[in-house]
Amino acid sequence: MSENKNILQDTHGRDHTYLRISLTERCNLRCTYCMPANGVPLSPKSHLMTYEEIYKIAKTFVDNGVTKIRLTGGEPLVRKDIPVILEKLASLPVELSITSNAVIIDKFIDILKKYNVNKINVSLDSLDESKFKHITRRHDFKKVYNNILLLVKEGFTVKVNVVLIKGFNDNEIIDFIKFTKDLPVVIRFIEFMPFDGNKWDMSKMISYAEVMTYVNNAFAEDKIERLQDAPNDTSKNYKIKNYKGSFAIISSVTNPFCDSCNRLRLTANGQLKNCLFSSGESDLLTTLRAGKSIEPVIQKAVLAKLKVRGGMDTLKKLQEPKLHNNNRSMITIGG
Ligand code: SAM
Ligand code: SF4
Repeated sequence: MSENKNILQDTHGRDHTYLRISLTERCNLRCTYCMPANGVPLSPKSHLMTYEEIYKIAKTFVDNGVTKIRLTGGEPLVRKDIPVILEKLASLPVELSITSNAVIIDKFIDILKKYNVNKINVSLDSLDESKFKHITRRHDFKKVYNNILLLVKEGFTVKVNVVLIKGFNDNEIIDFIKFTKDLPVVIRFIEFMPFDGNKWDMSKMISYAEVMTYVNNAFAEDKIERLQDAPNDTSKNYKIKNYKGSFAIISSVTNPFCDSCNRLRLTANGQLKNCLFSSGESDLLTTLRAGKSIEPVIQKAVLAKLKVRGGMDTLKKLQEPKLHNNNRSMITIGG
């Protein structure tokens, strides 16, 4: 612990016990809402954290109270040294989980089990093969679909992330919910969020309220169960009676959950982001490489965290491109 006791508590009383680490800026898909059409300039390899640096930075967070680490990217599984990263992080007293597009996850079943990575979030924005190709600019629908079934069969806890975009996949909301009839997965509908280069505008977003209108039109009231949300949960959880799985809505845009936020994000090039929506970053990697303690830098970043959505506390502010266009593309933040 540092001298100033809880370096992960901010000025709004929020304790940050959850760290999301992006392992790479690279990806084997090209989702249109995540990556600008002409790609992103990649950091030179020497600017990215090595596995030893990831471990050292993660350990500092765990020593200061982090209890959950989620690995993300880009696509975390395309990083060649993922086995050693998992091995090192699994030695820390922390719950380890991963967010993946699942294109190649079948090759990692044993290793994920070996290091107790039981909670897997998978992205799948359409159940229609041609629409999947349109949104990801790649042909991997069958691999992803079959790998979701495989993960469930192998006993992993699987959540499927669906970014909803008006006119693209809102007509699949009910199909996705019906997918949970026999499959024990959580479908998480995510409101489309603005990031650098993703051509966001409010009219493309399907809100929490709109999702619920689809649900209420498709199912009788007594069939729709509101589930208890876990503490710090970013989603509102529901279930259709007698279905094996459930569904949830992540409403970062229309109904932000900033009051209970316990998350910090570390980018693949070692920058700490105190909020998904904040364009400010704190350089942990340079500090570490200079042989200095990263704790004061972490504390300063945490204390600078604003109350709501990196300062975009109203929908009006969120719609001002100049406020969110300085932020990175999602692919280089890690979701
Ligand atoms: N490649 C992995 C994957 O796709 O799951 C991990 C990284 S990805 C950046 C993490 C999550 O961010 C995915 O579920 C993705 O759908 C979500 N995401 C990316 N861009 C988004 C946006 N503009 N709005 C909402 N969610 C977004
Ligand atoms: Fe890759 Fe995930 Fe972004 Fe899609 S959402 S481009 S899979 S990082």
